[in-house]
Amino acid sequence: MDKNSNLLVVSAHAADFVWRGGGVIAKYAKHANVSLVILSYGARGESNDLWNIEGQTLENVKKARHEEIEEAVKQLGVTDYEIWDYEDYHMEMNSERMDRLVKKIREVKPTDILTHGPKDAFNPDHEAVSKFVFEASVLSTSNGVRLDGYATAKQARLFGFEPHQSEISDFKPEVILDITETYEQKEAAMNCFAAQPHLIDYYGSRAKLRGNHARRCSGEKEYRYAEAFTRFFPYVGGEFI
Ligand SMILES: [Zn+2]
Repeated sequence: MDKNSNLLVVSAHAADFVWRGGGVIAKYAKHANVSLVILSYGARGESNDLWNIEGQTLENVKKARHEEIEEAVKQLGVTDYEIWDYEDYHMEMNSERMDRLVKKIREVKPTDILTHGPKDAFNPDHEAVSKFVFEASVLSTSNGVRLDGYATAKQARLFGFEPHQSEISDFKPEVILDITETYEQKEAAMNCFAAQPHLIDYYGSRAKLRGNHARRCSGEKEYRYAEAFTRFFPYVGGEFI
């Protein structure tokens, strides 16, 4: 990765990008470029602990999650981020939303897009977002999809997050990236999400487990923490990498 690499991250809910890609996102923020789109606050589906507070309101939940996001992106070194504030659980996509994402892709011209993988056994929003982002990436390349002022983009490579229940969601790591360099930043970003404290240990252990796989598959002993992803398209290049 270098300054010509543009990573566009599309996260369904407030914290998905941190649990599942925070280490890699921090690396891109450090060495390349990151644009982050958070489609919803996850107020209905991923803020259970906040709803245990007496007299809680949707507005307050969103406010709390907004503050958490602001703190988390700071920890990851991400400055270019947008929260589109769509309703979650259930998240519905329409043509207006599709045009908005196509415009975003054409504006950012990502070399890589990181979002949810196609299967997530217990989270229909994640599956809907996976399909939405895949379609937008394809539409962004088509000359016939006319959006004034937005020239077509080159097809970006697409990568999918590891879902929460990996095996139940038929997840198989296809790409494992070392995040040892930025793991502390990921940990600090995870600690920003008070609404989901049980996930901090869980994803800390996951990063260690994938670190073990990273060492075993590569022989690189210095890899301590890693994140795993799927890829939507085969690797294409002039040599094996
Ligand atoms: Zn989510």
